[in-house]
Amino acid sequence: MASNSELFERAARVIPGGVNSPVRAFRAVGGTPRFIARGEGAYIVDAEGKRYIDYIGSWGPMILGHGHPAVLEAVQRAAIEGFSFGAPTEREIELAEEILKLVPSMDQVRLVSSGTEATMSAIRLARGATGRHKFIKFEGCYHGHTDALLVKAGSGLATFGHPTSAGVTPGAAADTVVLEYNNVEQLEAAFAEAGHELACVIIEPIAGNMNFVRASLPFMTALRRLCTQHGALLVLDEVMTGFRVGLGSAQAHYARLIPGFAPDISTFGKVIGGGMPLAAFGAKREVMQHLAPQGGVYQAGTLSGNPVATACGLATLREIQKPGFFESLSAKTRQLVDGLKAVAAENGVPFSADSEGGMFGFFLLPELPQNYTTVMTTDKERFNRFFHAMLDAGIYLAPALYEAGFVSAAHSAADIDATLAAARTALR
Ligand SMILES: *Cc1c(COP(=O)(O)O)cnc(C)c1O
Repeated sequence: MASNSELFERAARVIPGGVNSPVRAFRAVGGTPRFIARGEGAYIVDAEGKRYIDYIGSWGPMILGHGHPAVLEAVQRAAIEGFSFGAPTEREIELAEEILKLVPSMDQVRLVSSGTEATMSAIRLARGATGRHKFIKFEGCYHGHTDALLVKAGSGLATFGHPTSAGVTPGAAADTVVLEYNNVEQLEAAFAEAGHELACVIIEPIAGNMNFVRASLPFMTALRRLCTQHGALLVLDEVMTGFRVGLGSAQAHYARLIPGFAPDISTFGKVIGGGMPLAAFGAKREVMQHLAPQGGVYQAGTLSGNPVATACGLATLREIQKPGFFESLSAKTRQLVDGLKAVAAENGVPFSADSEGGMFGFFLLPELPQNYTTVMTTDKERFNRFFHAMLDAGIYLAPALYEAGFVSAAHSAADIDATLAAARTALR
């Protein structure tokens, strides 16, 4: 049996940094990444046979836990029928119908294979539909790794962004305006200056890529109003929050709090694939008609709407619609978050935490931060000590202070209790 460190060394010889997605390398927290051999419900088991309570759930998709019997059966049946045909299948319609039934802001949806593709295509669609080039994104939000989205704020108000990655040209970043999350004043100023040139604004409604930061109600209200006033489209990136924070996703949550609220374009991923490579973007028919083959905005994919992936996604979406699913998941997640707050208070550690549905975040900060700059004021050394102490105790939290956490339906009250017991000694 190879150890995690032997596997990491072997991986690093053939895969850059030893991983196929950077966050897996544990660079933020240090130490050796765990190579996972298998998952079982709420647990993952590493190459050395050590079992962990899994609070990553593949970064969101595994809302039912690992190896849910109904999902397994659907995937096995689909695999026998065929892996891929490059021709339409009935299951694509079924999945589209299922998604549209749950998200009334969309009339049509296009299936793709990753969240990156979904947001990239959503931006292109917004540009094609409006005939405008520029768009706004917010610091701390992650929308996948396409060039125009790998951009951070320049200095000063509403300046155009700078690439955050080598290999992204200034040209690719030139039409991306980067603003501070939850800053209404800055948003108003940016629209006043460039509103007529904006194709869209893209936002994570509950940002899960700077830990867990909610868009405030005044901010979301202003965003919707300004987009409508200036003819820009509002793109909600729900790749993480979609079918994770509730059955209607984050947009249903905001629609309950802001009368008439709805996005123009939505993107989904993670949960809708149930762990398979599947994502989607959708909108009202007037917007979606701009897409090829009907319209002039090109978008395609050899494996889009893959038969095995759609089976996995459909089975997952059917399970989460069972009565009481989200009530139970939310209660469990809240129990974890409240428990952690109580432990931190006992130990005298500055701490704040929040959750919605099966998604949560916690901060070694006295109050919930409202933007990326504040998130990054976290005591990194203390977070890393906590992370490693929990990992040693068999609790697998996200290996970076700027990532959200996830609870699945497979987590039991005993798992939550075991997590809190570990935190009692780890959180110091
Ligand atoms: C994960 C994520 C993406 C990118 O999805 P991939 O499938 O990793 O390409 C985009 N947006 C958000 C909000 C995400 O959380």
